[in-house]
Amino acid sequence: MAGGELVDRYGRNIRKLRLSLTDQCNFRCRYCMPTDAEFMDQKHYLDSQAYCEIIGELMDLGIDEVRITGGEPLLRKEFSTIVQDIAKLGIPKLSLTTNGSLLHHYFDTLKECHVQQINISLDTLRSPVLQAISYHRGLAQIVQNIQTAVQLGFAVKINTVVMSGINDAELFDLVEFAKAQQVTIRFLELMPIGYSRHLYARHFMPAQTLIDRLKAQYNLTPVLTEKDATAFYFRTNCGVQIGFIASESQPFCTNCSRWRLTADGKLFACLFEELGISLKGLTSAQRQNVYQQVLGIKPYRRSPTVNHLMYSIGG
Ligand code: SAM
Ligand code: SF4
Ligand code: SF4
Repeated sequence: MAGGELVDRYGRNIRKLRLSLTDQCNFRCRYCMPTDAEFMDQKHYLDSQAYCEIIGELMDLGIDEVRITGGEPLLRKEFSTIVQDIAKLGIPKLSLTTNGSLLHHYFDTLKECHVQQINISLDTLRSPVLQAISYHRGLAQIVQNIQTAVQLGFAVKINTVVMSGINDAELFDLVEFAKAQQVTIRFLELMPIGYSRHLYARHFMPAQTLIDRLKAQYNLTPVLTEKDATAFYFRTNCGVQIGFIASESQPFCTNCSRWRLTADGKLFACLFEELGISLKGLTSAQRQNVYQQVLGIKPYRRSPTVNHLMYSIGG
């Protein structure tokens, strides 16, 4: 079958898959999961063969990018095997989103599997703030892993969720950090998804407020991006690329090209859709039906909020 067949009734071409390998995490970011988070039973995870069958079918239908995520994907015991198996499918672009804390164990695998891009979440450069946000103490290891990833030639983007009164005062420090490390930094608006809804009213900051602050210190030149990109970018006069994922103030649903597959095999048309459809245990023909169903339920505009939890659907 020719590629590019997953075009919905609004003309959006689905070509990117976010694949969650686990909902578990060694962090407890306040905007993502509660300290007493409940996780799915690991016996419900799909195995590598099942992920690959699905991805192979989706590649035939035009999916050309798989981003591995979670929860924290590096906690999945079979991480290396799964990535190696996916890489063998020859997907044009394979990338990873991680909190960065365990990356040093996986650089060899990621190189071997031609993972080009690694997005590393980093909300702060201060250990007490990292602890306050995520209950994690390993800031130095994350910073070291960012440096190593750059030295090894990975394209690294830092993802920072900006929260008013928590880490927004570090805006310039984070940009200067990105400049020193020669990486792109992206500032994410806080989304009112699942557990984070309790933070949203007090801590949401629109991207434009950050842009206005940055303009006081830098000249920002817009950078052209792909039509279906989640972020828009500027380059500063000192050469840093700064992106904004303004999911709330400037939603990008009209050009969305993404589906999500959870660790236990539920396919979601949208991050903000409450219901996914399980592919587990289905025949290939049955899965083809599900792909058409999911294409049909992709919303043109997202709902304002959603109950399910970010770590379970895959960020
Ligand atoms: N554990 C990995 C990590 O943190 O990078 C991958 C999964 S995490 C769910 C993916 C991304 O979603 C992270 O960059 C995280 O900061 C972001 N995220 C989680 N909850 C969010 C929320 N409520 N609003 C905005 N971004 C969120
Ligand atoms: Fe874990 Fe990522 Fe969620 Fe933080 S954002 S709790 S690192 S899954
Ligand atoms: Fe795509 Fe849904 Fe996100 Fe909108 S909310 S950009 S439709 S995944």
